[in-house]
Amino acid sequence: MTLLDQPDTWTGPYVGGDLPGPRSAELLARQERHESNARSYPRRLPIAIAEASGSLVRDVDGNVFIDFLAGAGVLSLGHNHPELVAAVTAQLGRLTHGLDFPTPVKDAFTEAQLSMLDPHLRDRMKIHFCGPTGANAVDAALKLCKTATGRGDVISFQGGFHGSSHAAMALTGLVSQKRPVPNGVPGVHFFPYSYCTRCPIGLTRANCETNCAGYLERSLRDGNGGVPLPAAVVLEMVQGEGGIVPGTREFVQRVRALTLELGIPLVVDEVQTGCGRTGTWFAFEQYGIEPDVIVASKALSGIGAPVAVILYDAKLDTWAPGAHTGTFRGNQLAFAAGVEAIRIIRRDDVLGNVVRRGEQIADRLAGLADHPWVAEVRGRGLMWGVEFTNPETGEPAGSVAAAVQARALRQGLIVEVGGRDDAVVRLMPPLNVTAETVETACSILLDAITQALRVTTEYQLEA
Ligand code: PMP
Repeated sequence: MTLLDQPDTWTGPYVGGDLPGPRSAELLARQERHESNARSYPRRLPIAIAEASGSLVRDVDGNVFIDFLAGAGVLSLGHNHPELVAAVTAQLGRLTHGLDFPTPVKDAFTEAQLSMLDPHLRDRMKIHFCGPTGANAVDAALKLCKTATGRGDVISFQGGFHGSSHAAMALTGLVSQKRPVPNGVPGVHFFPYSYCTRCPIGLTRANCETNCAGYLERSLRDGNGGVPLPAAVVLEMVQGEGGIVPGTREFVQRVRALTLELGIPLVVDEVQTGCGRTGTWFAFEQYGIEPDVIVASKALSGIGAPVAVILYDAKLDTWAPGAHTGTFRGNQLAFAAGVEAIRIIRRDDVLGNVVRRGEQIADRLAGLADHPWVAEVRGRGLMWGVEFTNPETGEPAGSVAAAVQARALRQGLIVEVGGRDDAVVRLMPPLNVTAETVETACSILLDAITQALRVTTEYQLEA
């Protein structure tokens, strides 16, 4: 009997040997031979996946992992939620692809999307179906705001991530991705984000007075500031890839106040935070602001069927017919799953679960905050990050995060890293994750951190 035949290993994490196992190693080698050098996740998480269910993933060698990556935040109701599978299956025999023609299921999906908004915001918002990626929706938002304002410059924030298309990459902080690709989209200006642990303008929490927002305010009001009035300010409420950095309330509110005062559309990129990830439908709700454009994608179908939209103030709709086309804008399977996902999230109080499980994670990880190698434990809802730092140099400690990730995998937990030097271990479980799974995952993580730090500290002492 092979491990794959053992049903009991399917109920919790189980790693039967070295990673990658032999079948995974074979597929990884074939992938390396045929696929581009740009492939990324399996480099640090060396497994080949056979199947998945709920919060668990099974690799081709029969090892079972708790999945706290969840398709990079896509699988809001876990892998293969039975009701979403049923909704997709029913739609599969009816209609799968509809360009941008209206269909009953697309209409229901549109209603469901708008139903996530506060009524008075909903009344003034329109929706555009984009090509099915977050990056394409970011591109659409830029084009919309440029068309509506007639302006060409855009403001983005250091540490932010908005996608890998040429324009979305231009808004992204990651210099290493941009350096090899000259002549990026021009007119993007980067301003500091409220990343208080490593304040981008070198202040401490005691003396900061939210000067990141102050710098933006002064620059845009300064006739000698060098930045023309922009078409848009593009902002993540919580920088996800940037290392789970929630914007501070004052920072976000001041950016909103400034953009309103100067007549600049505020685009909130909720690709990662949207559809319940932070405990409210959208993260901006927690900041007491209303954006002009919302970009959403990842979790909209709940099951990984790709779909991306922008929701935006009807006043911006100066687009001509066909202004942002794309063949794959009518994924009926995603629409069917998305309608069902929102119904289930309401029915099962999944947003309540996000808050409770988030508090559970915060409690379980609280003790880490005192460790000299831990810069901060932070998060919102079910987006959590543990940032590692070298206590002697103060530099981000990416090697520790990598060691934690590898050790966690060996004990049956998949986590991602991110942020500066990839020094933040990130937790993004499905939104309906159980308390029991969170408990097991946190135990594995804490153990992996203890081991990684023991090795690191010993190495430091030896060195
Ligand atoms: N915006 C944010 C905030 C994201 O986190 C991501 C993906 N991680 C994107 C945009 C790009 O989405 P996609 O990979 O689907 O293009």
